[in-house]
Amino acid sequence: MIEDKNPQRTSLAQLGEFGLIEHLTRSIEIKQPSTLTGVGDDAAVLDFKDKKVVVSTDLLVEGVHFDLSYMPLKHLGYKAVVVNISDICAMNARPTQITVSIAVSNRFPLEALEELYEGIKLAAKIYNVDIVGGDTTSSQKGMILSITALGEANADELVYRNGAGATDLLVVTGDVGSAYMGLQVLEREKQVFQVNPNNQPDLDAYTYLIERQLKPEARNDVKGILEALEVKPTAMIDVSDGLSSEIIHICKQSGVGCNLYEEKIPVDPQLISVTEEFNIDNTTVAINGGEDYELLFTIKMEDFDKIKHNPNFTIIGYMTQESEGIHLITRANTKIPLKARGWNAMSEE
Ligand SMILES: [Mg+2]
Repeated sequence: MIEDKNPQRTSLAQLGEFGLIEHLTRSIEIKQPSTLTGVGDDAAVLDFKDKKVVVSTDLLVEGVHFDLSYMPLKHLGYKAVVVNISDICAMNARPTQITVSIAVSNRFPLEALEELYEGIKLAAKIYNVDIVGGDTTSSQKGMILSITALGEANADELVYRNGAGATDLLVVTGDVGSAYMGLQVLEREKQVFQVNPNNQPDLDAYTYLIERQLKPEARNDVKGILEALEVKPTAMIDVSDGLSSEIIHICKQSGVGCNLYEEKIPVDPQLISVTEEFNIDNTTVAINGGEDYELLFTIKMEDFDKIKHNPNFTIIGYMTQESEGIHLITRANTKIPLKARGWNAMSEE
């Protein structure tokens, strides 16, 4: 489906490990004041002064987390950085550095790694983080990519998953479900392509969904928006596994219950039309589909007026006493227990 734009193939063996690392990292610039030295010594040296440091790591395995038949390498590199930055943002911290580790089989030429690195460098530039280290090695089969992200915050700025109170409001940024539906569209087109490789897919009706899947963005803007509104979330998490799963994380770790309102869940119009085309329920996708990388957080009830008209945020429910449980209130006003996962979570009850 993705045409080979790299007819030139330089074998990695020609460069050797040190030559490869030098080749991929030579144009890296250092911008963060907390980076004293980056790539080039045995270890990077960082100085966060009196800030707290947050660290998050993610491991992506070909065939498990990504499929290179529809995920261009540049997008993969970009997304791998974004998902880690998102975890830093979910702590209400500011991302500052990343390290990048890659294992590839000999099926990948140098040009493929250059393309991957282009995406990594683009994300680093857009999110203003320094690439300060990593490792490159060979694998028996396929590609494995691991990114570690670091960030900084003042101690009183950090937001954990366990701070939600029993009367807090539940808020989500952006919209949810689209990245999952984008994946379904890409999977379908892959099947069509396998049957007839000459079939050029027309994906115009799916552009938003596909972009949400292939080129997600982290909400590194939310920290500043909330600061300007003088709102500090009581608990926060990013939506990587799906809305219901993240709500349950906050509830369990905070010792509270929750009522989530189906009619309030923000979805894009394209999600509604494409779920109709696929004949699946859009709320099921919105609450179970993952990889949106939006932020889900709770705020004190008295902060309601400060955020109610802000276009970045939607209030989708409220927290309750733990004994009341975790529920979805449907449009028909029935109360369904929220399940962490499972496609049939809603139809079971
Ligand atoms: Mg997370």
